[in-house]
Amino acid sequence: MSKIFDAHMHCSELSEDSLLPFARANSLAYTMKELLGLMEANDVYSGLLLSPPLSNGLPAPNKRTIDLCTKSKDMLFPVLTAEPSMKSVRECIELAKERRGYVKGFKIRLGYVEVFPDDKIFSLLYDYAESSDLPVLFHTGDTATSNGSLKHSHPLGLDSLANKRENLKIIACHFGNPWLMDTAELLYKHKNVFADISGLFAGGAKYSGKYLDYLGQKLSQAVYYIGNADKIIFGTDYPVETFPDAISLVSKIKVELPDRKKILSGNARKVFPI
Ligand SMILES: [Zn+2]
Repeated sequence: MSKIFDAHMHCSELSEDSLLPFARANSLAYTMKELLGLMEANDVYSGLLLSPPLSNGLPAPNKRTIDLCTKSKDMLFPVLTAEPSMKSVRECIELAKERRGYVKGFKIRLGYVEVFPDDKIFSLLYDYAESSDLPVLFHTGDTATSNGSLKHSHPLGLDSLANKRENLKIIACHFGNPWLMDTAELLYKHKNVFADISGLFAGGAKYSGKYLDYLGQKLSQAVYYIGNADKIIFGTDYPVETFPDAISLVSKIKVELPDRKKILSGNARKVFPI
């Protein structure tokens, strides 16, 4: 298997990290040391680190994500989380300017903060992202908390933004699950919309084996509908999904080997400045 790029991982090493229950369910320590070791063991040569949510509902501070990446010996690069406030938008732009080339994109949480992708609060961020060719990642689909807003995290919310901003690289995280075919339509329709397949599978449920097969079938159908696998990007959403499960899911997408390699690393190399 070719070397893998993981475009969606989390870690904060903070005790109030809300992804700790997922880590426990996957028997993971959820530390930087473990993460870097698992990347090596699973042939993941590099990837992107995103702020996890904390128990107070806020994302872990972007500066912390940058600091953790700095200690990773260039295995991890930061994506900054922008909240729907001018203060957060300005901070993200400032940090990205300070660490130009090192910061690889921005992330917006949509359903967790009840904001739509085309909200004017993000105009400056999108202007900067376009001018510096940095992608913006959007949490789409199911929210990990039962009080998240699906109206805001539905992938079709990205359509109006993509219509208005054809030069903005837009990434739908989690392939909009369970609205995988809605996301496929966005990838088909818009040259500037991509999707990652992170965090689709959390094991432990009664039919989890069948669910992994189902996801493989759905993603295969998405590829056939789009007509190619050129905009589908590998991610685990560590610690939500384990590396072996995420890699197993890619093996279940019925495409030719060159396309599998694109999903595992080639597509990310085209989209992100890496
Ligand atoms: Zn995530």
